[in-house]
Amino acid sequence: MFRAMPELAEVEYFRRQWDAGIGYRILKVALHSSKRVFRGTNTRALREELVGARMLISEARGKRMLFRFSNENWLGLHLGMSGRMQTAVTDFRPQKHDHLVLYQRGRALVFTDARQFGRVQFHHGKDGPGWWENGVPEIVSEKFDRRFLDRFLNRHRKAPVKAVILMQSGFSGIGNWMGDEILWRARILPSKRAGRLNAGAHDQLFRATKFVARESLRIIGPDDSKLPRSWLIHERWRDVGKCPRHRTLLRRATIGGRTTAWCPTCQR
Ligand SMILES: [Zn+2]
Repeated sequence: MFRAMPELAEVEYFRRQWDAGIGYRILKVALHSSKRVFRGTNTRALREELVGARMLISEARGKRMLFRFSNENWLGLHLGMSGRMQTAVTDFRPQKHDHLVLYQRGRALVFTDARQFGRVQFHHGKDGPGWWENGVPEIVSEKFDRRFLDRFLNRHRKAPVKAVILMQSGFSGIGNWMGDEILWRARILPSKRAGRLNAGAHDQLFRATKFVARESLRIIGPDDSKLPRSWLIHERWRDVGKCPRHRTLLRRATIGGRTTAWCPTCQR
């Protein structure tokens, strides 16, 4: 379904798959306790505490998710590079990469991660887990405002703007395809140093970031229906991808360690 590493919108999509289990108890837990996705996590406690607990609510922040259960239990999931979540039948048999399965009456909640850059964390306690609070504002929240963006760009003024908007400490949940989409919409050259953007560019970057985050969440979040044809994403994977605005051939280069696509006509 998704070709890329999970970003804000894909995370929202997967979170909603598991939300089918809200209100139901966990009857059984199957997990691969020695796998890297459980690094630093007490899998015995996870299994003992979650069996019998009811899933209450979920929340997403950037690329991370938190599921709250009854009896003061919290489960954190990070999808890393290749993480996936789905609901499956009650007699689901975990395969090699299905590292965590929560069985409920009526369904199984499955976490799959072939490359294991993802992570499963568990916390038992009245207050939420310390690792959940990181102080980074969600892009769609009011806390992500012009002042925050200006200060973040200034702090990283020597880096190419593409690299800056991939930093999770400022642009929570933005990954490679959303980053390219934002810069294309804002008409900013990805390799330009963040410190060289003028006030007008800050304005455009701010608006484009809010727009791409909000629209991606709205469109991809609830289901996997398609983003509008006018978006860059449909072209950026193709061998001869063209700018949706005026059909100029897209250029590609590695910026901030990631393959970046841009239009040489609208992004100068
Ligand atoms: Zn263009």
